[in-house]
Amino acid sequence: MDLELPEELRLMRDTLRRFIDNEVIPYERDSWEGPDLKPEYREKWEARAQELGIWQIDLPEEYGGMGLGLLARTIVWEEIGRTIAFPRRKPWIFGHDMSPILVSYLNEEQREKYLYPVVSGEKKHAFAQTEPDAGGDAAAIRTTAVRNGDHYVINGMKRFITGGDSADFFKVTCVTDPEKGARGVSCILVDADSPGVTVLRRQETMMDDQPCEIAFDDARVPVENLIGKEGDGFKMAQHWITIGRVRHGAGALGVMERCLEMSASYAQQRKTFGRPLADRQAVQWPMVDIYADLQTMRPLIYNTAAKFDAGEDIRWDSYLCKYLGDRKGYEAADRCLQIFGGMGLTTDMPVEKLWRDMRSMMITEGPEEILRMSLAQEVLRRYGD
Ligand SMILES: Cc1cc2nc3c(=O)[nH]c(=O)nc-3n(C[C@H](O)[C@H](O)[C@H](O)COP(=O)(O)OP(=O)(O)OC[C@H]3O[C@@H](n4cnc5c(N)ncnc54)[C@H](O)[C@@H]3O)c2cc1C
Repeated sequence: MDLELPEELRLMRDTLRRFIDNEVIPYERDSWEGPDLKPEYREKWEARAQELGIWQIDLPEEYGGMGLGLLARTIVWEEIGRTIAFPRRKPWIFGHDMSPILVSYLNEEQREKYLYPVVSGEKKHAFAQTEPDAGGDAAAIRTTAVRNGDHYVINGMKRFITGGDSADFFKVTCVTDPEKGARGVSCILVDADSPGVTVLRRQETMMDDQPCEIAFDDARVPVENLIGKEGDGFKMAQHWITIGRVRHGAGALGVMERCLEMSASYAQQRKTFGRPLADRQAVQWPMVDIYADLQTMRPLIYNTAAKFDAGEDIRWDSYLCKYLGDRKGYEAADRCLQIFGGMGLTTDMPVEKLWRDMRSMMITEGPEEILRMSLAQEVLRRYGD
């Protein structure tokens, strides 16, 4: 399904595909040092992304970025989803890690101190919301920010914070008014070297993202570091995460496509009992299932992105993008792994990493049960009495 993509998007997709097929995939297995992308590959690919003119994809033009709409970024995320070379949750080869919170909500003073250094690559940031007792139920956070003169005093514990050990500052969600539930949550910029902020440890996971536990112990932050107004924090986090859900779906399209390419090619070459695997229906059908999922998911993801670009509300569509995208991407990786047999389990092949990545994506940024719980509200509203 091509959804009549505009010419410039088709060109960008073709350029990216050539780059990834010729310059990335051949090195994808060598590009990792444990859970980290080797610096020499990061630097080489970042330089190529700049040469190709696909750089700062998440940054509006007014700040020197490409000013791409969500459909255009979806095309990028889909293409880069085909390789295991780029970190699955933070594939920032195509520009510095930019979040909608930084771009949309900071005032000019905050932009000077926090946004522009991120744009130039001088500073890194992390988003600190999840806590030991508040993950999927993000509104249950307990970290407090209490106003004391011209400062907030922050106390609490965050965990699973991606990039926590390399961040120069955090966007921390804190309770500023315990009486108001989710409307009493605020988002505050906290410098990583502030007294009272301690990165406790890196948490090893089965994917390439090794997030951190961070303690806030009487950390004092100037009141001007509040983003927006008190009580806006949860709303901002939702803005960020809505776009993130479309990114999950788009990346999963790339995984499905790569799994099809690898499965079909391997099934044609590999012979058992005197015949190629590709001759067996038991091997053909899983490939057809991946193909069917890819063909039905792509319009959902592209349409959702196009709706966002047209200014429409995509909250409900975004739940579907993540829920179905991650699930179908995972199922594709699982089917592909089965077709590869023992070879699929080895680190000689990319399949095992695609599988680990996609299994993890079904949990990070919202497990599917919680997405379905949210979708149920919409289903009952639309179809109930
Ligand atoms: C690698 C990684 C990176 C991350 N990066 C960040 C980050 O940068 N910043 C940040 O703030 N957070 C981050 N997170 C946190 C992530 O978003 C949470 O892990 C996720 O939202 C799930 O929360 P939880 O792990 O506390 O699971 P819980 O909320 O404890 O849920 C556990 C399981 O219970 C089930 N479940 C939960 N609620 C329901 C329900 N209502 N109905 C039915 N079943 C339910 C689900 O199967 C779920 O998987 C990261 C996590 C990981 C693993």
